[in-house]
Amino acid sequence: MIYFSFAAVLIGMPVENFAAEPLVIDNVAVYDVSSSALRSNQSIVIVGHLITQVGPTASITIPGNATVISGIGLTVMPGLTDAHVHMNEIDSGTFLANGVTSVRELNGSVQHLILRDDIASGNVLGPRLLVSSPLISGRSIQFRHSVVETPAQAEQLVDELFSAGYDYLKIYDDLSEDAYLQLVTSAKNLNMEFVGHIPKSVGLKGVLSAGQSIEHNEKIVADVLHPDYSDFEPLRSAAELIFNAGVAVTPTLAVHEFLNDRQSGEVRVRLLSDELAYVDEETLGWWNAIFPDHGGVGGHSSGGQDFLNAQRFLLGEMAIRGVPIMAGTDTPNPLMIAGFSLHDELDALVRAGLSNEDAIRAATIVPGAQMPWSVGIGEVKVGYAADLLLIRGDPSDDISALRHPVGVISNGKWLDREQLDRLLTAARRR
Ligand SMILES: [Zn+2]
Repeated sequence: MIYFSFAAVLIGMPVENFAAEPLVIDNVAVYDVSSSALRSNQSIVIVGHLITQVGPTASITIPGNATVISGIGLTVMPGLTDAHVHMNEIDSGTFLANGVTSVRELNGSVQHLILRDDIASGNVLGPRLLVSSPLISGRSIQFRHSVVETPAQAEQLVDELFSAGYDYLKIYDDLSEDAYLQLVTSAKNLNMEFVGHIPKSVGLKGVLSAGQSIEHNEKIVADVLHPDYSDFEPLRSAAELIFNAGVAVTPTLAVHEFLNDRQSGEVRVRLLSDELAYVDEETLGWWNAIFPDHGGVGGHSSGGQDFLNAQRFLLGEMAIRGVPIMAGTDTPNPLMIAGFSLHDELDALVRAGLSNEDAIRAATIVPGAQMPWSVGIGEVKVGYAADLLLIRGDPSDDISALRHPVGVISNGKWLDREQLDRLLTAARRR
């Protein structure tokens, strides 16, 4: 297992401790994700892993022993959350270097649970983690999973997963209605979250009445429109049902854009980009098979342009109604590179019609509020985690500013650009 154990080298302190001295970002503009306001001349005090003061610079008491970072000309905002990842430990560096200070692993393992706890305690540098169970499927599949065929198996599995410390059940495909309903009942009894696909046996209405949050607009569109993907009208009432159920949705649009338009210039650019250095050989082989010679069609079906447009239409209908939307990439699905791809997903959300402000909320305050974090994240507020992003400019004017953080604070640890670049170097696969 490769952990980032070199935090001491980077920031000159024992890795087992949070920063001993308070950290201050002085005279900085704070981007308030809830109001989209940019407040200038603010200062932030961080003690340990928490924000302890935020306000106009003149009103802040800077502790005598603090390390002070000048924020003049810079903007601070909450670090970003990728709500849907499949990560390895080595990806920690690309997440942090891209300003992604928290992620939700949606096919978890015992190694992920250990990593989650090591990162939270400050022993290891990496994005704050929530970890779902392995996929819970009605039949055997190629990815890490548990098969559940009967209610009795469902009940026993949920007990085991809860005892093991998983944050979520990950609902996958092909579950029987009986098994699904028992998973939900057992999860609710233990106060355990559940999230995932839409098993055909229960359909959209079934998962909504269970209170399950949903991954992939693709899954909703397929459930509602099958087999006619040209008439989007039924998606309006689906969006209404989703809003009324009060569940969150992670659309994962960018991966579908790439899969749908395999001959696009963007695909070619990505397949030749330097960022591929952060992708392992096995994953790269999979991607190249899907985009042979950067043009042909491999084994992964995208469903065509109507299917993609339906996913975008659904996003708009959900956003208008106020459904909580979360930015998630499904990295390492095709062309989704850990960390970098969250910015691709934000761009995809904006292309589909979200404002920059709403796209930013989908990666900050919404996942902060919708997920069971052990500490507040997603806002720059007293008592919240010091998971912060330092950028230039106003991200509501130019969302691409998020791609180039000047610095990142992860669990109270300050990482300047040089340190972020060193993390990237360490995360290269070749
Ligand atoms: Zn996934």
